[in-house]
Amino acid sequence: RTIAELDDHLTHCRACPRLVEWREEVAATKRRAFADWDYWGRPVPGFGPTDAAIAVVGLAPAAHGANRTGRMFTGDRSGDFLYAALHAVGLANQPTATHIDDGLTLHGVRVTSPVHCAPPANKPTPAERDTCRPWLAQELRLLRPTLRAVVVLGGFGWQALLPVLEAAGWDVPRPRPMFGHGVDVALKHREEPGELHLFGCYHVSQQNTFTGRLTPAMVEDVFGRAKAAAGL
Ligand code: SF4
Repeated sequence: RTIAELDDHLTHCRACPRLVEWREEVAATKRRAFADWDYWGRPVPGFGPTDAAIAVVGLAPAAHGANRTGRMFTGDRSGDFLYAALHAVGLANQPTATHIDDGLTLHGVRVTSPVHCAPPANKPTPAERDTCRPWLAQELRLLRPTLRAVVVLGGFGWQALLPVLEAAGWDVPRPRPMFGHGVDVALKHREEPGELHLFGCYHVSQQNTFTGRLTPAMVEDVFGRAKAAAGL
């Protein structure tokens, strides 16, 4: 199976009843500012080249962001922050992401999430995280030949990702490394040569960026280090 086939399959997933109901309800009711939009209202696949050296693992699509536009981190403030940082370090061709045909392309980076449907209050349940995990596992397995670094945005993604990496043969230390901004853990594979660098970064949510807990310089620093670790 290719990543394109995986993405196509993913967009038809209805495994989480609460999230299916929420993503479709939001799409049907809309926000007034987006009344003329035809909301996507389905699972949002990863975005970026299928031979990426860096994966970005977020949390879940935003109700009126990716759940509206159909592309990861596109059409909301979190995405404005993320793509501006990727552009600043030379990993995106433009700093903005507004809709699926806006011309944005990423260089060596694929943006995905451990939960692919918008959750109420941006909070998936542990059961929803576990139900969606196989999609992330398959995506990372398909990226494996080129993947050198993963930037994880927030503790939820970190918790979701470590079991996926362990199951894929990466030697995750015990106790498991803690999430933190700027953390860099180099993992070795049990059977294959090469390293995978795991970087922690605070999530680019408004909760962090509006309060100054996370600044553009902090995100650019992490992506700059990931870029160097990935040889880009
Ligand atoms: Fe399927 Fe994941 Fe959406 Fe659940 S969150 S319905 S597993 S795509």
